[in-house]
Amino acid sequence: MTSIDTGEFRDALMEERQRVEHALATLRDEHPGSLDDEVEEVANDNHLAETATATLGREIDYTLGENSEQVLGEIDAALQRIEDGTYGTCVNCGGEIPVARLEAQPWASLCIDCKRRAEGG
Ligand SMILES: [Zn+2]
Repeated sequence: MTSIDTGEFRDALMEERQRVEHALATLRDEHPGSLDDEVEEVANDNHLAETATATLGREIDYTLGENSEQVLGEIDAALQRIEDGTYGTCVNCGGEIPVARLEAQPWASLCIDCKRRAEGG
């Protein structure tokens, strides 16, 4: 048996969930328009570089948006695992996920070994 304080992690997950949802809502609000608005405010002599930066920032934001939706799904799954009493157990091998890992990433569903294997291909 693990001695994980799931109540604490539930709070952390709910908090993170709100933050991610807010970030997603903000992203949707900020990006329906065109790039032109952002570029107009840029200083003249730095125009090209700043435009490139704005474009880069936009791409990163979209990537973040995708990640955020994925994280949101993982947070929901983690909350479900708390309900099921399986929180803190690797969904792949059933092994224990170290608390330090859960503290860094409360929605982690894989132990370090399985995570490494999943990322390794
Ligand atoms: Zn595992």
